[in-house]
Formats: sequence, structure tokens, C-alpha cells
Amino acid sequence: MVLDGNEKKLNIDTKVVHGGKCFDPLTGAVSIPIYQSATFRHPGLNQTTGYDYSRLQNPTREEVENTLAYLENGSNAFAFSSGMAAISTVLSLFSPGQHIVVSDDLYGGTYRLFEEIYKKYGIDFTYVDTSKIEEIEASLNENTAAIFIETPSNPTMKVADIKLIADLAKKRNILTIVDNTFLTPLFQRPLDLGADIVVHSATKYLGGHNDTLAGFVVVNDVNLAERLKLIQKSEGAVLSPFDSWLILRGIKTLSVRLLKQQENAIAIAKWLKSNNNVEKVYYVGLPEHEGYEISKKQATGFGAMLSFTVKDEALVEKILERVKLIMFAESLGGVETLITYPIVQTHSAIPKEIRDRIGVNEKLLRLSVGIENAEDIINDLEQAMSF
Ligand SMILES: *Cc1c(COP(=O)(O)O)cnc(C)c1O
Repeated sequence: MVLDGNEKKLNIDTKVVHGGKCFDPLTGAVSIPIYQSATFRHPGLNQTTGYDYSRLQNPTREEVENTLAYLENGSNAFAFSSGMAAISTVLSLFSPGQHIVVSDDLYGGTYRLFEEIYKKYGIDFTYVDTSKIEEIEASLNENTAAIFIETPSNPTMKVADIKLIADLAKKRNILTIVDNTFLTPLFQRPLDLGADIVVHSATKYLGGHNDTLAGFVVVNDVNLAERLKLIQKSEGAVLSPFDSWLILRGIKTLSVRLLKQQENAIAIAKWLKSNNNVEKVYYVGLPEHEGYEISKKQATGFGAMLSFTVKDEALVEKILERVKLIMFAESLGGVETLITYPIVQTHSAIPKEIRDRIGVNEKLLRLSVGIENAEDIINDLEQAMSF
């Protein structure tokens, strides 16, 4: 028997291994080949193999797109050269005069894209704490066309109730867009909860090896899919065949990686909580975290991202200099543990007043926990944080 690629009965940790098509139907190759071709020969006039030109479609990209649609329970997915290219494509759906409500605690690059690029084209943005439905409701106006949420948010890990937000949005004909980078479809499937559009930076957990930039948009609506397809082929920020293949390869091990990363993150969060130099730990998987219960309701995991504040700002520079195994670098989701200083790296584009409101301050550090042995990561933190 051959899987038809549409089986919804399989468990998600099986689905990630086999992907959309499982194998190349032409040759039986278990690893979908890299179709490194820009164009495709037509059999005759008005005839096509299904592929014409790689900006429109390419067999390797098609497989990674179908895999994402399959994992997110969507009808269509679109692959882009980066997460930002994916988000930018979604923003091209909107018109001057429209308004979008956005999580105030979000990836700095997304904030920059909205404020520096799309604002110029007449789209308005309001940034609110999307873990509070009253704040979302209060910010809606007659031009509101979408609610864009990141959950858990970056870097203070606030959890927004996706179903509650999608229900509110549906009543008013507003689109719900969820950046699902942190939890991936392994742990959270926003379309199932009523969201209209899911975006990803596949550079992170989906790729998983800190070696490829990629992004996705996933929908479960034919009309939206057609509009996105038009933008994708017109703007052309598509994922290359080789990078599509790298992401396909990454996704196969998503489950084992993320489960191990999560196990490590829990151990590290507990250790940080007991450290004398630590003021506060932000990890969704700690029962005292504000979003713990909602998270348990809407996701099957807490992920492996955590942040913490140290008691004294002066310790930050020392910690960043002293870590050996843990690398001081931006990005997240890869097999290596990385430490980030959001205020100067990922969130430098966010104005001080928003940063102060959400708690991105001089004392906050963010960890993307990798798949190393937890004891080794903790020992590295221990030596870097003993003062
Ligand atoms: C990294 C990131 C992005 C941007 O993706 P790139 O692949 O770097 O363009 C968007 N959203 C979140 C949550 C991210 O972490």
C-alpha cells in the first residue's frame, strides 16, 4: 500500500517523516530529488508536464509546500526564501486604508517590515497584548482587516488564545494570521483552531540546523490560496529547489529534535529558577507561567524557547563573554543552543516604549535550547553565571 499523502489519521510524528508524497513517483527515490531546473520543456503546443517555470512551480518546492499543507491541515502552502518574504507576501493581500492588529511582543523584523515598509503603502498597525482579548477588541475599528499574532510571543513567551481570537475575528469578517514558528505544526495547528493563515520562519525549527533561510504561508481556503499564489508568482520570493530539499530533510527529524529540545528546556528553566543571579524565568512549560493552561488547551507541547532576566544588568556582558558551548548568536530552533540579547539583536527595531511595556529590557536574555545533553548546557550556564 502507498500512502496517498492526505491521510489525516496518522500521528504527527509519522507525518513529519513521510511528508506530502513520501517518495519520488518517477524513480522511487526515497529522498525527493532536487529538481535544479529553472524551466521545463513542453511536450507540445498547449501541453505541459505540470511544470513550466520554477518561479511558478518546481517539483522539489511543490513537495515541501505539500508537506507543510499536510502537517498544518491546510489546503495549500507556499514556500518562500525567508520567513520575512512569507510575511511580506501575506501583507500584499491588504490595501491602503486597511488596519491590522498585531501582537506587541513579536519578532523585531516583523515590526520593522510593518512600520518601515507597509505603513508607507497606507496600511495601519496597532500593537497590543494579544494574550488579552479585551485589548484586541478595544483596538478594532471599521477598517480592521486582520489580527496578526505570534504565540508564544517573542521573547517574553506570552500565549494568545487562538480559538478565542479566531472566533472574534470571524464574527467581524477579519482574518486571523498566526506566526507558528515557535511551536511548529508538531505542537500547534492554528488552522484547526480557526485561524485563516499560518506563517513560518522555516529557518528555525522546520529546517532545524541553522543552515537555511526559508518561510511558509499555509491556508485552508481555496480563494485565499489563489490570491497568495498570484502574489507568490508575481513577486517571486520563492524557495530554491536546493533549499526546499534542505527543509524537507530537516522536517523529517522535527519530532525527535523538538521533543529533545523541549525536555532540555524544561530542565534548564528549572535550573535557572534556582539560580541566585536570575530574577525571572519566562518559559511556557512552567506551571506558574500565565499562559500555561491555554497552552495546554491549544498545543501539545511548550516548545524550547525561554527567556530570563538577571538581577543586575552588569552580568549580561559577562555571561555573553563567558559561555563556551552555548553560542552568542541570533536565530533559534536549530540543534545548537544559542543565547540572544534581544534588546540589541532581535528587538532593536522595536521602540523603547513598546519594549518597556512588554519587558524587553537590558536584563533580558533569550535561550534557544538545542539537542545537546542538558547537563552540559547547564554546566556551561553554571560556569558563565557564577559570580
Ligand atoms: C526569525 C523569525 C521570523 C523571520 O524569519 P526569517 O526566516 O529570518 O526571515 C519571523 N517570525 C519569527 C517568530 C521568527 O523567529
